[in-house]
Amino acid sequence: MLEARAAVKSLHAYRPPLAGRQGLRLDFNESTIGCSPRVLVRLRSLDAEALARYPERAPVEREAADFLGLNAAQVLLTNGVDEAIHLLCSTYLEPGDEAIIVVPTFALYAIFAQAEGASVVQVLSGENFAFPLEDLLSRISPRTRLIAIANPNNPTGVAVASEVLLQIAQAAPRAAVLVDEAYFEFHGETILNHAARPENLFVARTFSKAYGLAGLRIGILAGDAGQMAMVRRVASPYNVNAVALAALPEALKDQEYVEHYVAEVQRGRAMLERELSNLGLQYWPSRANFVLARVGPAHAEFVQALRARGILVRDRSSDRSSDQRCEGCVRLTVGSDEHTRTLIGALSEVIAKLGERREVRA
Ligand code: PMP
Repeated sequence: MLEARAAVKSLHAYRPPLAGRQGLRLDFNESTIGCSPRVLVRLRSLDAEALARYPERAPVEREAADFLGLNAAQVLLTNGVDEAIHLLCSTYLEPGDEAIIVVPTFALYAIFAQAEGASVVQVLSGENFAFPLEDLLSRISPRTRLIAIANPNNPTGVAVASEVLLQIAQAAPRAAVLVDEAYFEFHGETILNHAARPENLFVARTFSKAYGLAGLRIGILAGDAGQMAMVRRVASPYNVNAVALAALPEALKDQEYVEHYVAEVQRGRAMLERELSNLGLQYWPSRANFVLARVGPAHAEFVQALRARGILVRDRSSDRSSDQRCEGCVRLTVGSDEHTRTLIGALSEVIAKLGERREVRA
């Protein structure tokens, strides 16, 4: 009988709830307004010839590198940040190595690391999900070969300062340190152009969030040129498809569109946080395009009641990794002004309804 590798058999499948997503989708931190119209014009102009050819990544990679102020050798376009994580795990992890993550966080770091046969060292975030620098430093060992940090973090929205990230990279010179900046645009701070960027530090960016292109699957992994040459060896030369490659330069050129959306999200985030506080719900101030809030024991009913009003949000209550810190929590994506107002309207109704039955709040 054919058997999968033991490391694969012991993985928990990652099954995001993708079915039945009709309505206002505030469950996956996507853009609620979609991409720049310039991207759509470009996509409509594609012909059969453009699709018949294998995709040519290099010219678009140069544009992306220019945009970031880097050399092309420092940049790899990827099939979303998901692929960037996968490639780093394949490049650096041997069976028995250790990968450090700070929990709660994005699920795929652990999955891709375990798939390589590495063991995942989970460092619990501190009070109010504060970044656990000292604990993390104390867990670095000679076997640590990967440290993955989402900045800002998903699902908490908490950010960590560049100096802290640099300190970690310096403390673990044998580890690839991934700073996942999937939500960079909403935060505004990056480690990418830091003068002292060490060779073991990698930065990932995505076009799935602020740029509204999650369906195209396109992201960037940036790092030291010599290290990136190694990562490139394990990537398919056709990892990013021709449609995504055609779209990217247009998306990059329309910065005004992205800036406008990001400003709207930042205003909406403040508005939503005020509303959560008015409703008496605990939440964690966020630097991303979502807010994590504690609804309490009625979290599943809360999500269901919003769904009945046409709004999808993500129940984060069952995050097994993080010692129940997300118990009773839901994650609410912040979208356009109009969409955030719709969410806020529904929130107060739902909380009032559940509150009558004393089911909200822990
Ligand atoms: N990193 C983080 C921290 C995320 O939250 C997500 C999306 N949920 C991703 C990466 C995935 O990004 P992409 O769509 O580019 O694969």
